Amino acid sequence: MAGLTPMMQQYLEIHEQVKDAILFFRLGDFYEMFFDDAITASRELEITLTGKDCGLEERAPMCGVPYHASENYIAKLIEKGYKVAICEQVEDPKQAKGLVKREIVRVISPGTVNDGKLLQGKNNNFLMSIYYNMTDFGIGIVDVSTGEFRTSQVIRAKNPKEKLLDEIAKYKPSEMIVNTVLFKDKWLMENIEKRFDSYVNILQNKYFNLESSKDIIKEQFSVYSMTGLGIEADEYSIRASGALLTYLQETQMRALSHIDKLQRYVVDEYMAMDLSTRRNLELTENMRTNDKKGSLLEVLDKTQTSMGGRKLKDWIHQPIIDVENINYRLDAVGAILEDVSLQLKLEKDLKNIYDLERLISKISFGNCNGRDFLSLKNSLSMIPSLKETLSSLDSDYLQKLNTQLDTLEDIRDLIEKSIHPEPPISVKEGNIIRSGYNEEVDYYREINVSGKDFILNLENAEKEKTGIKSLKIKFNKVFGYYIEVTKTNLDLVPENYIRKQTLANAERYYTEELKDIESKILNAEEKVIDLEYDIFQEIRNIVLESVQRVKKSAEIISIVDVLFSFAKVSYENNYVKPIVYSGDEILIYEGRHPVVENMMDKKDFVPNSVSLDCNDNRMLLITGPNMAGKSTFIRQVAIITLMAQIGCYVPAEKAKIGVVDRIFTRVGASDDLALGQSTFMVEMSEVSNILKNATHNSLIILDEIGRGTSTFDGLSIAWSVAEYIHDKEIIGGKALFATHYHELTQLEALLEGVKNYCIKVQENQDGVIFLRKIIPGSADQSYGIEVAKLAGLPEQVITRAREILMGLESSEDAKVPPRKTKEPQHPKAEVNLFNYQDKQIIEDLKALPIEDMSPIEVMNYVYNLRKKIN
Ligand code: ADP
Repeated sequence: MAGLTPMMQQYLEIHEQVKDAILFFRLGDFYEMFFDDAITASRELEITLTGKDCGLEERAPMCGVPYHASENYIAKLIEKGYKVAICEQVEDPKQAKGLVKREIVRVISPGTVNDGKLLQGKNNNFLMSIYYNMTDFGIGIVDVSTGEFRTSQVIRAKNPKEKLLDEIAKYKPSEMIVNTVLFKDKWLMENIEKRFDSYVNILQNKYFNLESSKDIIKEQFSVYSMTGLGIEADEYSIRASGALLTYLQETQMRALSHIDKLQRYVVDEYMAMDLSTRRNLELTENMRTNDKKGSLLEVLDKTQTSMGGRKLKDWIHQPIIDVENINYRLDAVGAILEDVSLQLKLEKDLKNIYDLERLISKISFGNCNGRDFLSLKNSLSMIPSLKETLSSLDSDYLQKLNTQLDTLEDIRDLIEKSIHPEPPISVKEGNIIRSGYNEEVDYYREINVSGKDFILNLENAEKEKTGIKSLKIKFNKVFGYYIEVTKTNLDLVPENYIRKQTLANAERYYTEELKDIESKILNAEEKVIDLEYDIFQEIRNIVLESVQRVKKSAEIISIVDVLFSFAKVSYENNYVKPIVYSGDEILIYEGRHPVVENMMDKKDFVPNSVSLDCNDNRMLLITGPNMAGKSTFIRQVAIITLMAQIGCYVPAEKAKIGVVDRIFTRVGASDDLALGQSTFMVEMSEVSNILKNATHNSLIILDEIGRGTSTFDGLSIAWSVAEYIHDKEIIGGKALFATHYHELTQLEALLEGVKNYCIKVQENQDGVIFLRKIIPGSADQSYGIEVAKLAGLPEQVITRAREILMGLESSEDAKVPPRKTKEPQHPKAEVNLFNYQDKQIIEDLKALPIEDMSPIEVMNYVYNLRKKIN
């Protein structure tokens, strides 16, 4: 580093500590970046790249952003996947001898953002740590912005790698820290990198050391041993959590007192779903644009608070399998649903509660102001009314929550008493403490006010004494208080005036008396600002002692909010309470797809029933043309099951749901080019995952397997997969299998428990009408050409396709007949054989749902028809 200026040396030394981050180096009012950081930042932030003399021959590339506007720039960089280290001047530049001392005060990465633009109210921001040893793994998950901390471990799983990917899929962390064993596992790393958008840090083994992990966990959660947290036997959880805390300590460099509760959970106590199932069912985001629109979450989200919004997302991703707990939730939803006026009151109570979790984490982080305290106070003020509403609701669960709901009146009163009702944004400008809270503050404020009165009195007295009518006492930041006399009156200026400044047409003076008053006022002003800041910190500390209580109340409010949301959506959309039990049946009478139904006029959605169990109705084979509604139907069964298991009412007339341990889907075919796999390869890996992991308690949804290859290949694979899933010795789970291979319907006769269903379609001379109704039996045709016609293929292509199909179907050696048709035939010619009324009658007859009509209805119809003809 020879030749470098001392400041550049300091810069490079500091940068050594955070090699993978962009260093924001504080220089006066700016954060400056140099060298490669400057090149990257100027490109990403679109700011000008300049240069700075660094002592070397070439100038160092440099760019900078003003410190007060840095938040936006930092957010942009984080969003683009960079880490940012903030380096501050840690001594007063005026008092520094030589180079100002600088230190990194915080490293911000995607998983540790705590404020500002990157946090969306209803989304969590997870940072996940993984300890992996090739057979087992432990995980730690934290959301720094809410203080939530969870841990779990999985030992001796059949397929640990897939299980690990499932857990990552549940949280979709924005950042991960992993140990070197995981890093060396090529398959896992590849899958993590390709499937998730997380920033991945590889940490050395020392971070995951068992003993030091225990130490840091004890310190963070204030316990004497791991037993206090219930994780004494969970070595891998401890290692993962320890690494996570060490990483936080190193990057955040401050006490994170809001992370004060470690929540241990058992992976197998929740319904398992892999990433593709979560995506295919469009649980929290749609498959096309990955946003909430068109997802189950969008339909179910009537939550009134951000905390509730996050909790709902969490529940959707973690359906439970404990029947009692599910029913607990369902009963609570029922109680809210029953009483519309209480439902409205609950909505009002919840609406006025701010994001308590993020507020308390902001307060704990230290970047809070008086307004945050007021938001906290206002939110706490709603709790008594909420408690009252809850106490009227007839549900054990809600009563239990209500008993645990702390009104936190002491905190509310403290803030009410101490914080100014209209505090400024900054905490260093004063006016943050309420009058009457602290005597000293009041005393100095008094001086400030009375000092200003003194000045006024003095001005009047001086005018009188000197006879200068235009004499004024003024104030500015540089010169303080002064007496201003215009040039025309200079001869009247008395002896005791001391000259301070000369202007073009006036002179400025001071007197001993003025100086006295001035120092009193200025001292008082400075004093009160410092004092108010100190008191504010004291209040903050008192509030912080109750972090756990605030968080507990926040958690309860978030649960109440989700239950409320379930009730509201069930009320609005006519959902019913499912019977949830531990048996193996899934019976849904007139079920609907909640999202598809929502996107159309509700009355146009055709409901369908299903009966599944582990015996006679184990595998339903659904045939029907494209666009008939097969996918919608099989997904709706999975979604209704999931909705029941999160404790929500379901879109059906009646439902009985035996809980399932896993839902698997293999839906649709899309090239996952990002994963470097063809459609067929993606399809086969998903099927393989299902076959390896499904149990007889699972619900398996298969949509068109074997499509990505030749007919016979595909059919053979589909057939043998069906046999494998059906076999009780191997899987024997409940399965819905939509297929366009009609040959598969032969399975009904061959395997007990396989049932054929098809979707009713009606033909008329113009093509097909989809009736969307599932009926027993198999579709006799695939109607591909009719669907192609509906999609708008040219008439000539359709006619020729019909010709070819007939040739293929009729001749024994299945030949494509030579091309006959040159001109498209005008279909109107055929229709013209009939007059308009004839045509209408024929159409009506064709569309007549005879199967659904009683004999008397048919007779009536024919009677009316005859009347019409006559
Ligand atoms: P398939 O899987 O048979 O090709 P889809 O399930 O994708 O068909 O359904 C095609 C479209 O039909 C859906 O996008 C939806 O608009 C409509 N649809 C499906 N099921 C129903 C239903 N039960 N009632 C009304 N419309 C439906």
